[in-house]
Amino acid sequence: MPQTLFDKIWDRHVVRNLDDGSSLVYVDRVFLHERTGGVALTSLAESGRKVRNPAQVFATMDHILDTYPGRGDATEVPGGEAFITTMRETAREAGITLFDINDPRHGITHLISAEQAITLPGLVVVCPDSHTCTLGALGAIGWGIGTSNCEHAMATETLRARKPLQLVVEFNGELANGVTAKDMILYLIGKYSASGAANHAMEFRGPAISALEMEARFTLCNMAVEFSAFTGLIAPDDKTVSYLAGKPYAPAGARWDEAVQNWRELKSDDDAVFDKVLAVDVSDVPPTVTWGISPQHAVAVTAGTPELESADTSEQRAELTQAMDYMGLKPGQPLIGLPIDGAFIGSCTNARLSDLRSAAAVLKGRKVADGIRAICTPASAQVKKAAEDEGLDQVFTASGFEWREPGCSLCFNAGGEGFGPEERVVSSTNRNFRGRQGPRTRTHLASPASVAAAAVAGCIADVRQYQEAAT
Ligand code: SF4
Repeated sequence: MPQTLFDKIWDRHVVRNLDDGSSLVYVDRVFLHERTGGVALTSLAESGRKVRNPAQVFATMDHILDTYPGRGDATEVPGGEAFITTMRETAREAGITLFDINDPRHGITHLISAEQAITLPGLVVVCPDSHTCTLGALGAIGWGIGTSNCEHAMATETLRARKPLQLVVEFNGELANGVTAKDMILYLIGKYSASGAANHAMEFRGPAISALEMEARFTLCNMAVEFSAFTGLIAPDDKTVSYLAGKPYAPAGARWDEAVQNWRELKSDDDAVFDKVLAVDVSDVPPTVTWGISPQHAVAVTAGTPELESADTSEQRAELTQAMDYMGLKPGQPLIGLPIDGAFIGSCTNARLSDLRSAAAVLKGRKVADGIRAICTPASAQVKKAAEDEGLDQVFTASGFEWREPGCSLCFNAGGEGFGPEERVVSSTNRNFRGRQGPRTRTHLASPASVAAAAVAGCIADVRQYQEAAT
């Protein structure tokens, strides 16, 4: 039987198919963070159970800790420090590897899982964070789980899961100037809605995917969950192999050769059948930005908010009205020129080295507009160091950006860090939900270069004007 990439990985991991239609699936890696990891490990210990294979469980500090330079265990949010110290103590007791705050390998969980080659093609990886699908860029099945499932996975190396339907998105054509993987995924979600991949695992493929570098592939897979997909996957290719070569947890010697041979088989068979097929010509994709409170509220930056008449039903009109009310916008309002209060480049979506380079190319020789609070948090210590080695930090700070430490807190207003009520922020993150970056904060999602362009302009801007002017 022809198989999809997802079938091949899934079938290799099924321990037993259960009577209710679900399966017991072998889990290769569990990655914890301090917001729930210490709780899960404490609960596991209190139940008298142990981590079955500590070598396959990893942890980092990313969700609650502050991103201020010189930060320590203390956080802006009362009680946050306890999560950090509990994570540290329970990780030590359980014998798992922890990438602690000052570890040079520290960073946001999905970043370091890839940077360290803890996740490899063909593996099943879980973490108590929705964006574990990021690791699908390596050809692994990754998904977010709750604390009790986390305990189950650590105690048994298995999880009960129901095999999803399967969707493939074919990306054809070539990206235009100023258009990135972030624009591709926002365009896809804007076109087919935030529930477009509900109940499906999705594979990204086609010439435009092969052309993407690994960092851009992570961005694409990161937002599969914003399309309601169970996970997002890209078949490993030469770029994947080069990315993993020599990384700390990658196999070495003869085991590397054997692994690469195995990874070469991880692709959908030509005649594999998917439950749903979508196609996008990426030459149609413009620099894209969200106007509302869902990633599906994505439009070309040159467009505006929708007219209420564009909605088919009264419920949809009510949803549009509520979203515009929250965002302080009117129907048919152009986005370019909309004044902003903040600009943020960070998160597991778009704070890798190539993201910082693209933003720095816009910022170089320019200043952040007066009154704009602009912040950059590189996604890992390695990204931060590599950026500093290239002098990108100097470009950011000379323009007026704050240069912070890696962490999630500004992505979801944790650790007391965020933006203010009704402040309008252009952000390289993945969620623009109500209050995501602060109470009543208004978030517009965009690519890192578009965030930089907005920071300089003081308003939502077309990044192409800034890139053309610079060349
Ligand atoms: S940066 Fe945001 S989306 Fe990514 S892992 Fe952290 S909280 Fe989750």
